[in-house]
Formats: sequence, C-alpha cells, structure tokens
Amino acid sequence: MSVFAAAKIVFFSVLLHLFYLFLTFAADYEQNTLLSMTSTQCLIIGSGPAGYTAAIYASRANLQPILIDGPQQGGQLTLTTEVENFPGYPDGVQSFQMMDDLRRQAERFGTRFVSGIVTRVELGKKEENGSIKHHLFLETEEEYVADSVIIATGASAKWLGLPSEKEFMGRGVSACATCDGFFYRGKTVAVVGGGDTACEEATYLAGLCQKVYLIVRKNYLRASEIMQQRVFNNPKIEVLFEHNTKQLTGENKVQGADLIYRKDTPDEQIRHIDIDGFFLAIGHQPNTRLFASYLDLDEEGYIQTIGNSTATRIAGVFAAGDCADPHYQQAVIAAATGCKAAIDANNYCKTLS
Ligand SMILES: Cc1cc2nc3c(=O)[nH]c(=O)nc-3n(C[C@H](O)[C@H](O)[C@H](O)COP(=O)(O)OP(=O)(O)OC[C@H]3O[C@@H](n4cnc5c(N)ncnc54)[C@H](O)[C@@H]3O)c2cc1C
Repeated sequence: MSVFAAAKIVFFSVLLHLFYLFLTFAADYEQNTLLSMTSTQCLIIGSGPAGYTAAIYASRANLQPILIDGPQQGGQLTLTTEVENFPGYPDGVQSFQMMDDLRRQAERFGTRFVSGIVTRVELGKKEENGSIKHHLFLETEEEYVADSVIIATGASAKWLGLPSEKEFMGRGVSACATCDGFFYRGKTVAVVGGGDTACEEATYLAGLCQKVYLIVRKNYLRASEIMQQRVFNNPKIEVLFEHNTKQLTGENKVQGADLIYRKDTPDEQIRHIDIDGFFLAIGHQPNTRLFASYLDLDEEGYIQTIGNSTATRIAGVFAAGDCADPHYQQAVIAAATGCKAAIDANNYCKTLS
C-alpha cells in the first residue's frame, strides 16, 4: 500500500470518527434540551388560594396542569395563624392547614407541583408550526411550555421593615384589617398609613375596637376628602400626625409601640402607646413585574383583565387572585377567580384542538 493510500484511510477514519462524535453530541444536546423543557396544556404560577383553586379545576378538566410554587408556598395566608372567614370551616382553621388542604385537593386530581420561581416569560410566542405557546423559565433555566397560563402571583403587603414587626408577625401584627380585625374586638389598635386604605382600615377597626390610633408620617392625610372626614368625625380614632414607628414592644405578643414624634427635628420626642394590635396599611405591591412588557397593568401594577373574565390581552394567558385585584384581596375571592381562570383556560384550550 502506498503512503498516499494509507494517509487517505487515516484521513477518512478520522473524518468518520468526527462525524460519529458530532452525531453523539447532537443526540445528547437534543435529549438534554428535551429533558429541561416540559410541555403541558396549562401552567399555573403561584401556590396561594387562587393558584390552588385553579389547579383543582384545571386538573379535573384534564388539562394536566403544572403548578409552580414560587417563593412562598401556600401564599400570603401563611403570614397569619388563624383564618376564620373562609367558608367551610365553622370553627376557623390554621392557615397552614387550609393551604395544605387546598394543595392536597389539587394533587388528588393529578396536579403536578414544581418548586421554583419563574424568572422569565415569553408569552404568546408563535412556534415554527404556527401554533401559539407560552414559555416560562425558572431560576434554574428549566423551561416550561404551555398552551395556557394562569398567573396567580398575588400582591405582597408593604411592611415598615422593623425587626419587631417580623418578631410579632401573626401575634399582633397584621396587614389586613378585614381579615384580622375581629380578633381585636373591644381592644386598642394602631393603623399605620395616611392614604385611603389606612383611613378605610382605621374606620373599619373603629367599628370593632375601643380605640384606634392612626399613625401618619406627614402632617396631613393623603386620603380623599370623604375618607378624611370619616376619620376626623369618628371619636374612637386618634390621628397621630408626624409620628414614625420606632419599634413594637411586648412579651410574646404586641403590647405597645414606641413612636418618634417629629423625627430628625429639634422637637424630636419618643412617645409610647399601649396597643394590642398593629395594622400596616401602607399599600400592596402586585407581583407582576415579570409580565409588564406583555400584559396591560394599571398604574399600581395590577394585571388588567377583560370584562368579567380572567382573560388578559394575550390569548391563552389568564390572571387570578390578588395580582389582578386591587380592591377585595380576600382568600375566598382569590379562590373564586382561580376557578374562573381554570374554566376560561379550559374553554381556550378546547378552541385549539
Ligand atoms: C397577614 C395577612 C392575613 C390575612 N388574613 C386573611 C384572612 O383571614 N382571610 C382572607 O380571606 N384573606 C386574608 N388575607 C388575604 C389573603 O391572604 C389574600 O387575599 C390571598 O392569599 C390572595 O391569594 P392569591 O392566590 O391571589 O395570592 P397569594 O396568596 O399572595 O399567593 C401568591 C403566590 O404566588 C407565588 N409567586 C409570586 N411570584 C412568583 C414567581 N415569580 N414565580 C412563581 N410563583 C410566584 C407565591 O409563591 C405565592 O405562592 C390575609 C393577608 C395577610 C397579608
């Protein structure tokens, strides 16, 4: 055999080997891609009352939903201890128990749960075959693709950020007067905030409590005239203008608050009030930033839905619960809109087949 022929054989066998390596790599790549990409008819983002209820209905409609838990499994209710106003629990229920009940109910019908946080979305993407899909990516870059998406990411209450606020969470500290006011009947409470919500919460609590302090940072209220009048005309409400909360005090539960009057001025003074409950009313932040470039949001960031449905401006994308509700923000309403979203998603999916 000539040197030339031998070189030719070596050359072709190297080429063949490289081709084999390429094929193996391509197969591996494809398999990995397939492994990290999961498809379903319905993806649900959020594990609060809205997400779990959507999951119960979507799984019973055979949409084989996948629910992504997010940073707070069980949602906002896990910030409180007892829930007394959710229908079906005549003796009240521990919030963790209630959320666990909802989860198990969804699991029973085949909902798949994924621990993770959605960090990126591509909604309403046209695929090569002409179909429209929605892509969600977790922090791990795991990808989920679906025909329909139900957004149930909630709205987080804003807190002052005091260490004592965390310490007494659920033991005298609350961000929901409608939910927890009843526990303070005949007692003394404080509400923090100067807007419409704060005035509304203070007026609501004055109907239950013997005394309500309204702690306002500025020397005026930002609330509408009518809400201000309701506060000023209520003999049970004392407005503490130009006060900041320094810390909450108490043994195992809130028993008082140290306030700073005219902070950072020559008149600065520390004042103590005795209270049994401390209610934050400085607003909520809807968890909707991820969707801002796709969906219509109102000026506060709440997702805007169409008419009486849970549909958004992108076909196949639905919103339920507090993330689309600046007004009611109650678990039963979130659950109800979760049900609506699953029915809307099911009707949408039927139009695809
Ligand atoms: C202290 C407190 C006490 C309350 N008490 C009551 C009460 O007694 N009765 C009552 O009816 N209501 C109560 N509420 C209100 C009630 O908790 C809410 O109205 C309800 O939880 C809203 O449900 P939701 O499913 O819309 O959102 P949430 O319960 O807020 O759940 C949102 C879910 O979205 C997930 N999520 C967020 N971002 C992402 C992301 N990027 N990726 C994946 N998942 C994400 C979170 O992990 C969470 O699971 C209370 C609220 C507070 C703060």
